[in-house]
Amino acid sequence: MVKICCIGAGYVGGPTMAVIALKCPSIEVVVVDISVPRITAWNSDHLPIYEPGLDEVVKECRGKNLFFSTEVEKHVSEADIVFVSVNTPTKTQGLGAGKAADLTYWESAARMIAEVSKSDKIVVEKSTVPVKTAEAIEKILTHNSKGINFQILSNPEFLAEGTAIVDLFNPDRVLIGGRETPGGEKAVKALKDVYANWVPEERIICTNLWSAELSKLAANAFLAQRISSVNAMSALCEATGADVSEVAHAVGKDTRIGPKFLNASVGFGGSCFQKDILNLVYICECNGLPEVANYWKQVIKVNDYQKTRFVNRVVASMFNTVSGKKVAILGFAFKKDTGDTRETPAIDVCKGLLGDKAMLSIYDPQVTEDQIRRDLAMNKFDWDHPSHLQPVSPTAIKSLSVVWDAYDATRDAHAVCILTEWDEFRSLDYQRIYDNMQKPAFLFDGRNVVDAKKLREIGFIVYSIGKPLDQ
Ligand code: NAD
Repeated sequence: MVKICCIGAGYVGGPTMAVIALKCPSIEVVVVDISVPRITAWNSDHLPIYEPGLDEVVKECRGKNLFFSTEVEKHVSEADIVFVSVNTPTKTQGLGAGKAADLTYWESAARMIAEVSKSDKIVVEKSTVPVKTAEAIEKILTHNSKGINFQILSNPEFLAEGTAIVDLFNPDRVLIGGRETPGGEKAVKALKDVYANWVPEERIICTNLWSAELSKLAANAFLAQRISSVNAMSALCEATGADVSEVAHAVGKDTRIGPKFLNASVGFGGSCFQKDILNLVYICECNGLPEVANYWKQVIKVNDYQKTRFVNRVVASMFNTVSGKKVAILGFAFKKDTGDTRETPAIDVCKGLLGDKAMLSIYDPQVTEDQIRRDLAMNKFDWDHPSHLQPVSPTAIKSLSVVWDAYDATRDAHAVCILTEWDEFRSLDYQRIYDNMQKPAFLFDGRNVVDAKKLREIGFIVYSIGKPLDQ
């Protein structure tokens, strides 16, 4: 029986390994993590992450061929294939601070693998890492092992949170990068054989190591760039009377462009887009390509601008002050169908409104009060000025409330801001909400989910991203 061990039981390690276990009953899969609470949760009825379909997959395999454990070294030493899916955040200190990937967790995982291994292993980069990381990992492994053969593969993950299980069941592609040596080719085949249990052969792409590593950064940069492009257009639409949905529809009908990922919004979030683009910017700078670096940097600058623009619009519309006014925030997660709040635009929007002394009342169906308070209390790392940290007043944080119902959040509010596209926000009883709000009642739709025309008929003053404004 082939044994797989995955180091890192997070948003990627957990779901990807659960699906491998489901699709490959003859493989034993153990997901290990140093975080005791995370592993405890994976072994309980309340999984540590919310992801549609995940509970069912885990319940089907857990205890049969899928295991979660904190015995990291034991399971690594017993595995044939070791996936490494640890976090690779942006460095906050030292060389490359604010841009470069922090590979501390990766390096310590690699050293531990070398230390505990007693048999040959395939080590798979599942985390998103800078191009050429495999070279560094190879050095760490070979210089610290006792004659053991390690083959390094790059197998970046393309799942999107909120649709992770669907994406893993039916991936657009699986990418495997390896060395063009007999050992490397054998390792690529072994990993290909795992995926071949459910992924059609034509969707499994094999490349050299550097192409695979760089493709992941490129894919995230292209996706984020699309969002920043449509968001940049949304600002121009508002200035000219064009409607960004009509523009996106017309543009997306061009088969060279395509219709996906063209929704204007308050901005992209999540743990990956910004971090991976910053990583790309740093790699370009290190390779003497400042103009290319600046090109990608602009994708993040437009995203920051979109969030600031939204806050400014809220404040300006409400007679230039939100001080002491109740503002309901609907949605805090960075997108629907996830409880993940990492880099969510809601953090910046809420901080902007708190800075103007608004009284926030926040509701998100999947995010806990503790999480929201932690996110808002945290100093945001300013990537452009790494020495600056934006201070947030503890009194401002105290003045907000977190509630478990959209109607509760909006009662007596002067304004509603929709920041996550949860389906339930499309079908709320907006007449009821309007009746219970202060007048004039403002609604700022940061995801373009409501029917602005109907809401205007009710009496709301509506702002939708990139749409003609209310007079
Ligand atoms: P995460 O923070 O949710 O999970 C990482 C886990 O690794 C944590 O639970 C942490 O405790 C564990 N860990 C760290 N060091 C360890 C060690 N030495 N031994 C054992 N466990 C250790 O991160 P994530 O969102 O799952 O992302 C993991 C990687 O995948 C990142 O590089 C990310 O960029 C990439 N990625 C993420 C997504 C996504 O949607 N979240 C998608 C594709 C790729």
